[in-house]
Amino acid sequence: MRRSAFVCLMLAVAAALAAQAPASKATPPKALRLYVLDCGLLNISREGVERYHVTTAEVGETRMPVPCFLVAHPKGTLMWDVGVIPDDDVEKAAAGGARYDVNPTAAAVVSRTLRSQLAAIGYRPADITYVAISHAHKDHTANLNQFAGATWLTPRAEREFMWKPNNERVEPRFFSALEKSKWVPLDKDEYDVFGDGAAIIKAAPGHTPGHQVLVLKLAKTGKVMVAGDLYHYPPEREFHRAPPDNEFSVQQSAASRARIEEYLKATKASIWIEHEWAANAKLRKAPQYYE
Ligand SMILES: [Zn+2]
Repeated sequence: MRRSAFVCLMLAVAAALAAQAPASKATPPKALRLYVLDCGLLNISREGVERYHVTTAEVGETRMPVPCFLVAHPKGTLMWDVGVIPDDDVEKAAAGGARYDVNPTAAAVVSRTLRSQLAAIGYRPADITYVAISHAHKDHTANLNQFAGATWLTPRAEREFMWKPNNERVEPRFFSALEKSKWVPLDKDEYDVFGDGAAIIKAAPGHTPGHQVLVLKLAKTGKVMVAGDLYHYPPEREFHRAPPDNEFSVQQSAASRARIEEYLKATKASIWIEHEWAANAKLRKAPQYYE
């Protein structure tokens, strides 16, 4: 009798745990993997496009995708950029998706939650080891609160920027829980996330005080730089246009672009401009991945 009662109890515990966990929990991969997740899109007005010193004719497609990225490494996971509308708001939204005006020139639409896409590949936000954002603007930070249990990798300057009073470029309700998170201040040019050179966070300030990019050494794909908002539209890069006037520091942005271009040349890394529509459309999306 006692034995069957114990078995019943264990079954009940297992059922309760299974209810919280994704369908099947991911096991750490043998080599680095990069998952690209769909965190919505931005409709940009003409004025919004011209901020980047390009015309609507030059860019063709004016919309911008909002991707999120999960890096899975044998020693842990890194979430990079976390969307423009919090999952809770997306779940409550009517058909057609949740909407949010980032500013008067950029209107976001999101129809899939980040957590449902993570669950489909075996991860819960609570399982993630590290979280980092390219920068703290509203379209990269919406789900940060879900990753408050991860170790946050951020430059001190960006953290200060986030809690600066009356900063209209950020949305404090997106990241209030991170104030108490364990964090590592990134104060050098490069930070090696897993200690083996597979995932490097590299400083590229200017767009914000602590803007940064992610460089991944993928065994089959090669070196990829996930470049945050170093550029938004490819013609900015192609035609060497000056950074937008509303950068935190135009001068610093221009210097970061020059330095990163040198780095790309020297390392033969390919650059992924996060908001580039055509390139994003061609990327493999989770549950597929790059390795
Ligand atoms: Zn952005």
